[in-house]
Amino acid sequence: MKHAAIKPLLLSTLAVSLCAAAHAGDAPQFSAQRLSDEVKTLSSDAFEGRGPATPAEARTIDYVVEQFKQAGLQPGGDPDADGKRAWTQAVPLLRAQIKGTPQASIDRADGSQALTQGNEIALRAPLDGAKQVDIEHAPLVFAGYGVTAPERHWDDFKGMDLHGKVVLVLVNDPDFETGHGDFGGKAMTYYGRWTYKYEEAARRGAAGLLVIHETAPASYGWATVKNSNTNTQFDIVRADPHAEHPPLEGWITRDLAADLLKRAGYDFDTLKRQAQGRDFQPVELKGETFTTRFDVDSQVITSHNIAGLIEGSTHPDQTVIYTAHWDHLGIGAPDAKGDRIYNGAVDNASGTAALIELARAFGHGPRPQRSILFLNVTAEEKGLLGSEYYADKPLYPLATTVGVLNMDGFDPHGAARNFTISGNAKLGLLDDLVADGKRMGLAYTPDPKPEAGHFFRSDHFSFAKRGVPAISYGSGDDKVDGGLAAGEKIDADYTRDNYHQPSDEWHADWSFAGMQRDLQLLYTVGDALANSGAWPDWAPDSEFRAAREASAAQRR
Ligand SMILES: [Zn+2]
Repeated sequence: MKHAAIKPLLLSTLAVSLCAAAHAGDAPQFSAQRLSDEVKTLSSDAFEGRGPATPAEARTIDYVVEQFKQAGLQPGGDPDADGKRAWTQAVPLLRAQIKGTPQASIDRADGSQALTQGNEIALRAPLDGAKQVDIEHAPLVFAGYGVTAPERHWDDFKGMDLHGKVVLVLVNDPDFETGHGDFGGKAMTYYGRWTYKYEEAARRGAAGLLVIHETAPASYGWATVKNSNTNTQFDIVRADPHAEHPPLEGWITRDLAADLLKRAGYDFDTLKRQAQGRDFQPVELKGETFTTRFDVDSQVITSHNIAGLIEGSTHPDQTVIYTAHWDHLGIGAPDAKGDRIYNGAVDNASGTAALIELARAFGHGPRPQRSILFLNVTAEEKGLLGSEYYADKPLYPLATTVGVLNMDGFDPHGAARNFTISGNAKLGLLDDLVADGKRMGLAYTPDPKPEAGHFFRSDHFSFAKRGVPAISYGSGDDKVDGGLAAGEKIDADYTRDNYHQPSDEWHADWSFAGMQRDLQLLYTVGDALANSGAWPDWAPDSEFRAAREASAAQRR
């Protein structure tokens, strides 16, 4: 998930309920108690952090399916030979795990410097299917932001041959620090995402790529890098994994990068400034080489998306989708207190609870004209893989999917006066949210940190890039009690202290009053879509509109 704002309970649930009821028209009242119970259950230690394809997966599926049944949904997953649907969609994934502790070193004429996994380097288990990584004395290259963008006349590699070399690149894109230029200013383009940087290194035949971590451009600290990269890695099963993944992928700290550059005669900050211009030249770190060797347990396993359906009364072939990911990081490296379970209460037990309660509201209400799919996807934390698999092999045609409302990390505390979405996007779904929100007293605030690349970091993106109108909802930060100052502080505290850490746990003092209103808004927008003939679209200048237009004939 992205960051989320949370705050201490300062407002009585009763006051918010009355207030929300007065504004929300005929949207149902959502139960704070049920939301709290569901988040508490899903984020309890018994669910072991909900790692995909661990014993916790079956427990999570059983729980969610039981809730879907009670909500009155029907199975909406994989059809069998007779067309009878299961509650799940099987998602085959490549799972790779480093065996033991990987050895890595920097070698120089005067000796060898051992690197410690998790401390100054975070090596990822490879996703090209290899059973072993063996890189000996590979030359090191610093290649700026690692970007090749012909349409922007930008190339950080300047034709340098990367075969057999390990490339070091900066995180985010060249405009992040200057705030202006060819990459959309402070907002992050896809060139800023680390996934892009690995893909580009693979295209260029590099032996490996290490992203240099810095907190501001990454938008998270080293703890997040360590926790998300040194554990088991996953990808969907690809026809040609080498086209997407170099043999070695990982991160290093800024301090290590600066030291390596200094010993090779370069200054980190000077090179970074040069990398912010298109005349930048990549440099080889003379006199230093990189060596690593480790074995890999690599195999194909199966995880599952959970799918519950309400079939439409008059247009069952047209589908509105609510999505939320059920997975989190599972069991991993211990924190300072020795806690190894990454409970993922906000991220994303909260979204799964929201999905269950929306299912209950629609399941107990009048039957909608169009179908509504409640899709609880897997492996978001491994790179949006469950949603990627669904969008690649949809259970219901994407051309007649009306829109996708994704939920990833709600604020479980008191009410806000606003809401947001992840990243920048212009589309009709947002117009609907803005209009209905306004009627309910919830103002729209654009993503305050588009530079963090949130548009590429949640499950709606798997649909958006294929043209399906899709959006990720976010709780607001303008608190009824405490205003923006309170919301922003809580947001920063969460990112620092809880995000992707074992401490993302349920708290008894969470009121869920803000979520009650968030869900009324999400219900209202989905209800209107499911009972109309409308096909919301992307704005004319959106990069996703062309993909949607290609299937326009199927919506007439
Ligand atoms: Zn997350």
